Amino acid sequence: MSTAFFSHADCRRHDMGPGHPECPQRLDAIDDHLIATGLDVALARHEAPLVSMSDVELAHAAAYVANLKDLLEQVSASGRTRALDPDTIACEHTWRAALRAAGAAVAATDLVLDGGAENAFCSVRPPGHHATRDEAMGFCFFNNVAIAARHALDVRGLQRVAIIDFDVHHGNGTEDIVAGDERILMASFFQHPLYPYSGAVPKGTNMVNLPVPPYTRGGELREMIEAMWMPRLEAFRPQMLFVSAGFDAHREDELGQLGLVEADYEWITRRLKDVAERHARGRIVSCLEGGYSLSALARSVAAHLRVLAGV
Ligand SMILES: [Zn+2]
Repeated sequence: MSTAFFSHADCRRHDMGPGHPECPQRLDAIDDHLIATGLDVALARHEAPLVSMSDVELAHAAAYVANLKDLLEQVSASGRTRALDPDTIACEHTWRAALRAAGAAVAATDLVLDGGAENAFCSVRPPGHHATRDEAMGFCFFNNVAIAARHALDVRGLQRVAIIDFDVHHGNGTEDIVAGDERILMASFFQHPLYPYSGAVPKGTNMVNLPVPPYTRGGELREMIEAMWMPRLEAFRPQMLFVSAGFDAHREDELGQLGLVEADYEWITRRLKDVAERHARGRIVSCLEGGYSLSALARSVAAHLRVLAGV
């Protein structure tokens, strides 16, 4: 059994302008590091397909999807950029990139459920966890992980899936979509207070939110994860795990002030893989979210992938 690696050149073409931290070079940094370390040979590369609108609408309001499609197709035709919020900017390639990013998550889910890979990582952008049911924000347009989790439940017939979000920012969009859906357990930690300033009070009993103060280090986080996530995950017995894999809690990342290092991402991934092996036949689909220090991002993704691939 292998680890699948989904990406697409379209994800690189989405460009929010000079100096924007969520930049195309993030994917290049990951690719370059995987090649340099030889880790690429342990992964089975797949081209991300375009997502279907019926899958997108499992997580987003139909009116939002229709409006976003109109808007982004207009942007594509005009060739001019358009800001959806001060940080979330569409260019002519954004619509295709968003379709590929969500398409990767859904295709990875199908591949893993069909036994074509034990687990999968989607090296895609735009990221997704700030996109709510009816709003694009925080660099995100479609909520890739929420779409894939709903696909696993509603299309593929699973009964229980977990979403784990270790990005430094609260996954407010995912919480907005899945809070109250008892088929999903969402466990996360995030720096608080920090953008988007939500999450301190969970929106549903299926949410395990761990707000942590700036300068929290990996050792403290590991203890909190062990005490707060693990018992809930074990009791829930998810049939598949989805990971919002943001690497901006790394100590070198300037968008947050947490103190994680590669060994912490390795440890978190190991603990999640333990849960997956016990309850979910090892099934994990992990999707890139944040991570803006190019070097730390690439090293952390490699640490995550080494555990997923068992190498
Ligand atoms: Zn983030």
